[in-house]
Amino acid sequence: MTDAIVVGAGLGGSSTAMFLARRGVDVLVVERHESTSPHPRAAGQQPRTMEFLKIGGVADDVLAVSHPPSAFKIKVAESLRGTVIHSIIENYGELLDQVSVLSPAGWGSATQDQTEPLMLAQARKHGADVRFATELVSFEQDGDGVTAQLLDLTSGRTQRVRAKYLIGADGNRSPVRERLGIPRSGFGRLSNHIGIVFDADLSDVLPKGEQWLYYLQNPAFTGAYINLNLPNRHIFSIEYHPENGESFDDYPESRIAELMRIGLDSPDLELEIIWKGPWEMAARIADRWRDGRVFLVGDAAKVTPPTGGLGGNAAVCDGFDIAWKLAAVLHGEAGPGLLDSYEPERKLAAQMIVNESLFNYVHRMAPHLAGPDIPEPVGPIEAVLGVRHTSNAVIPEDNDGSPTMNPFEIAGEPGFRAPHVILPSGESTLDVWGAGWALLGGPDGNWDKIDAGIQYRSLGEQYDRFGVGREGASLLRPDGVVAWRTRSNADEDTLKNVLREVLCC
Ligand SMILES: Cc1cc2nc3c(=O)[nH]c(=O)nc-3n(C[C@H](O)[C@H](O)[C@H](O)COP(=O)(O)OP(=O)(O)OC[C@H]3O[C@@H](n4cnc5c(N)ncnc54)[C@H](O)[C@@H]3O)c2cc1C
Repeated sequence: MTDAIVVGAGLGGSSTAMFLARRGVDVLVVERHESTSPHPRAAGQQPRTMEFLKIGGVADDVLAVSHPPSAFKIKVAESLRGTVIHSIIENYGELLDQVSVLSPAGWGSATQDQTEPLMLAQARKHGADVRFATELVSFEQDGDGVTAQLLDLTSGRTQRVRAKYLIGADGNRSPVRERLGIPRSGFGRLSNHIGIVFDADLSDVLPKGEQWLYYLQNPAFTGAYINLNLPNRHIFSIEYHPENGESFDDYPESRIAELMRIGLDSPDLELEIIWKGPWEMAARIADRWRDGRVFLVGDAAKVTPPTGGLGGNAAVCDGFDIAWKLAAVLHGEAGPGLLDSYEPERKLAAQMIVNESLFNYVHRMAPHLAGPDIPEPVGPIEAVLGVRHTSNAVIPEDNDGSPTMNPFEIAGEPGFRAPHVILPSGESTLDVWGAGWALLGGPDGNWDKIDAGIQYRSLGEQYDRFGVGREGASLLRPDGVVAWRTRSNADEDTLKNVLREVLCC
């Protein structure tokens, strides 16, 4: 019996497989396509994602193919040279400088077709069995595991495989979620779009070396344009209206090219369409993210408008979360109850990013939807670095219930990501929790004398940043979230009891 079957090799599946394999879990990945998707789709890795990708061993590769992030600009305009309706980001450098205080992990701008193969290569390097052209056709679960029927699409042969757990990272339409009968809630369908990947020389319209994202509110159409980190490769999207009887087929290449030339202010532009396809913009969250031994990850668990670039990032963060918890349970370091923390923690994060993306969508692409039905977002930095983790894997101090905090004001409160500080050892806190559970102690505490089987570092004079005083300590989980803190000295038994509680042993 294998430990885990991961269904789907998108961002959710490839990240889950990489994080599981790196933690020594036997993992089988099945993907029905013959390779990863050639569509660039999700371009951009936020600092929290980069922190996890560093632990996965691919952060340097991602940064190597990324634009200098300071060159990223976002506008809402009629066309590339037309009237600017809103300027969303003029100077990304300023935002990045601010955020680098919170996390030194940086920002990536690699596209999905670049990151998925990197993560799968890491997964394979650490022993994962990755099978393309292989479809999960059905599964059943019992008390001990999951039995999956896999179809080899090349040979037509089916195979029965047993696993202890199954991860449905099978995208928005998720056959795994459908089979479990798990409904989704939320705003639902927002609009329908034609996604286009194309090659063209736009150097006379756009400055070289900069990355541009334009939301286009043109009298002829609504859409978006983004240039990629490959020379002359770009993405375009055009909204179409099934509610008015339109379909994707009403947009032959000639009509698409005509609208693109209008939006790009380049009436004579020579362009080559590499790929085009319809996609639905929607905001939906699965009511349950777990059914027994089956977990949903990525778009299978929630789908968010791409306005804000949060969906792919959230898929990687889901993958990290389920992987460290599943690995701890499989290795006998935690009780199965730890897995109960996956849904509440990741679902709240999903709600925050869906609110953010929905708000951006209305502001940037659909101003007619503005109104009381659109939830007020908490802000992009809060949604990424300031979300509370409320579950049995955290011992809370206060219970004010606020789902987020301003990350610049977080001072070691349990349930929030630990502040990034440089410790007397010269390491960032990020490097310490990246290696597993960690205890950080105030300079006058006796924590260095306690052996609870986890790493220990002194906070030195940084104790205030963690709110633990000179004698206290802070316990960090392998995702950098503060699981517990105390302001006074404690003995080994106390610490071991705390660990047993948050590990659900
Ligand atoms: C046009 C567009 C632009 C976007 N831009 C951004 C962005 O800039 N930033 C961002 O963060 N996000 C963006 N997103 C969102 C991002 O692409 C998704 O959130 C991300 O792809 C989710 O990854 P996933 O692995 O959950 O799902 P997917 O990428 O959909 O992968 C699911 C995989 O499961 C496979 N599968 C399904 N069923 C089976 C089965 N039965 N057996 C085997 N395999 C199966 C599928 O073939 C597929 O490869 C964008 C999305 C779109 C559509």
